[in-house]
Amino acid sequence: MYTFVNRDESSSVYGTVAELLVARGDWRGLPRDSARFHLMLGERNKLPFGRLGHEPGLVQLVNYYRGSGSICRKTSMVRTVQSYSAAAGSDPFLWMPPSFVVCPSRFLAEDDGKAARGRLGLKPRRKDERSEFRAAAAGGNGRGNDSVWIAKASAGAKGEDILISSDCEALLEFVDRGKQSHVLQKYIEDPLLLTGGRKFDMRMWVLLDHQYSIWLFREGVLRTSSDPYDPDHLQDLTSHLTNHCLQEAHSANYGKYEEGNEMFFQEFNRFLEDKHGTTLESAVLPQVRTIIRNCLEAIRENISTAGLDYCSFQLFGFDFMLDRQLKVWLIEVNGAPACARKLLPDLAAGIVDIAVDPLFPPTAEGEVDRSGTAGNIRDVFEKL
Ligand code: ADP
Ligand code: MG
Ligand code: MG
Ligand code: MG
Repeated sequence: MYTFVNRDESSSVYGTVAELLVARGDWRGLPRDSARFHLMLGERNKLPFGRLGHEPGLVQLVNYYRGSGSICRKTSMVRTVQSYSAAAGSDPFLWMPPSFVVCPSRFLAEDDGKAARGRLGLKPRRKDERSEFRAAAAGGNGRGNDSVWIAKASAGAKGEDILISSDCEALLEFVDRGKQSHVLQKYIEDPLLLTGGRKFDMRMWVLLDHQYSIWLFREGVLRTSSDPYDPDHLQDLTSHLTNHCLQEAHSANYGKYEEGNEMFFQEFNRFLEDKHGTTLESAVLPQVRTIIRNCLEAIRENISTAGLDYCSFQLFGFDFMLDRQLKVWLIEVNGAPACARKLLPDLAAGIVDIAVDPLFPPTAEGEVDRSGTAGNIRDVFEKL
């Protein structure tokens, strides 16, 4: 009999994983603070990694990689991609829109005592990239100040704490008024638009197993806007931000085009065939694969559990945008993604099969019920 603790009751994905395990008969849930368990379904923040790997004779597995924040927080993602590209001698903005990390200036002022930091043996804090941003915004696309940028709070989510503007100083003032570092990112001004002239972003789920193999969930979802894209009205949030909660709360047309403003890949593929004479597989997915591989390679050395006393796996949500040339841009990576309800059974069953079973193979007591999911569950993922 294997045992698990579930420390995040709010996760629909891991709630479903827990249900699948219990239903099988060879797994049993334990109280959340138990010390001896095989699998920890941990909390997304402040997970107690220190508790793992100290039980004699027990292999322990946890559903997060320690340090994955280096790609899952917005400012960290920018720095990670910048330094990985610098080390590889490649352009950091090949698939991440040009992006700069900017701190509210009052924090930088507080940090002026560099000599004092030195005496205390502290590292000098990194200066922010305000001047790099100003230079890029002034010259970037040859259109001077017409260029549009988006400011996003580092720990922001759900489309909150965002300003879209072509006024460089207004963007910096927005950051200065804020409570945290922001990413100032080139706004994708020419997004690919769906019927009705609507913008979207594309979510794909990626499972990183304990051996650091990358598994891409084949089904993805577009989160669509239900109001037309309007480059002349940058403050019109529902036309520019495709977050589901924002569309649901603020668009009068929510659900008019797609149920729940969600379009799945089959329909998107049909749209690409009809309107652009191409397919997801030929035009989009090769770029997606490259981006995912690069991102996870960039953090591998820092997060891999090879050689540690416990094992990790993690599900990531990669969010992309496509522009009119069908170029794929990475917008953000989520370390604890939710999943569209329709995809949840396959995704959860795949997590069990790919990330859990290899370490804890189903025993004679266990009966794997595959009803309601794909026949060979591994087929719903592609190994990259
Ligand atoms: P959040 O964590 O708030 O979802 P995102 O980075 O995903 O932050 O930004 C929210 C939304 O803003 C995205 O879903 C997308 O619609 C839009 N957006 C974000 N970055 C860009 C960009 N560089 N160009 C165009 N639109 C963007
Ligand atoms: Mg987010
Ligand atoms: Mg987002
Ligand atoms: Mg998001």
